[in-house]
Amino acid sequence: MIEGPVVIVATRNAGKVKEFAHALAPLGKEVQSLADYPEAPEVVEDGTTFAENARKKAKTVGDALGRTVLADDSGLCVDQLDGAPGVYSARYAGEGASDEDNNEKLLAELEKKRLGEDTEQPLLSTARFVCHLALYDPAQGQFIEASGEAEGWITSDPAGGGGFGYDPLFYLPAYDKTYAELTLEEKQAVSHRGAALRALAEKLSRTEAGK
Ligand code: IMP
Repeated sequence: MIEGPVVIVATRNAGKVKEFAHALAPLGKEVQSLADYPEAPEVVEDGTTFAENARKKAKTVGDALGRTVLADDSGLCVDQLDGAPGVYSARYAGEGASDEDNNEKLLAELEKKRLGEDTEQPLLSTARFVCHLALYDPAQGQFIEASGEAEGWITSDPAGGGGFGYDPLFYLPAYDKTYAELTLEEKQAVSHRGAALRALAEKLSRTEAGK
């Protein structure tokens, strides 16, 4: 389904683009994003699940460009916050919020939950990152989809300068590091996006083999 040397990812998020480019380069694929297609339509992400939003982004952009498109919808689900920010991760602190705004809001919401608790504990809550990928081919009207998750903790001690979004707050006990302290290789090996990409590659190879 991804035949040529180019994979179009329906995103304007530079952090995501960097991770896809890194993951797909060994397969000889160059990643393009919506920065390369200014004519691509804006997609309103009004779904209630990651899967709905990923499908909507892939289909809207794929149909408009007449090309196969990969879309990623992802976010952070924090247990103490009943799964928030979830599908609202990109705009948790409001429309157009920066990563810093969102991180601040997340820590503030968790601190509210701790009021009255006498603790210096820096680990505030268990959490998981979720990524849903939808690959859409407008010629066939067909989707191939996969998802991945990664479990960790939200820390009140942000650390690391790599990555994007909530990475400095997402702590992995097995590494004793946050996502933002991992190299791209390390993050890909353990991340929700890495897991989703491996699952998608497996589905693609089964689909191609079944042709
Ligand atoms: P989307 O563009 O609606 O999928 O928004 C995804 C949002 O979830 C991003 O803007 C980040 O805030 C957050 N997010 C998704 N994946 C990651 C990640 O790998 N690290 C940090 N934050 C992420």
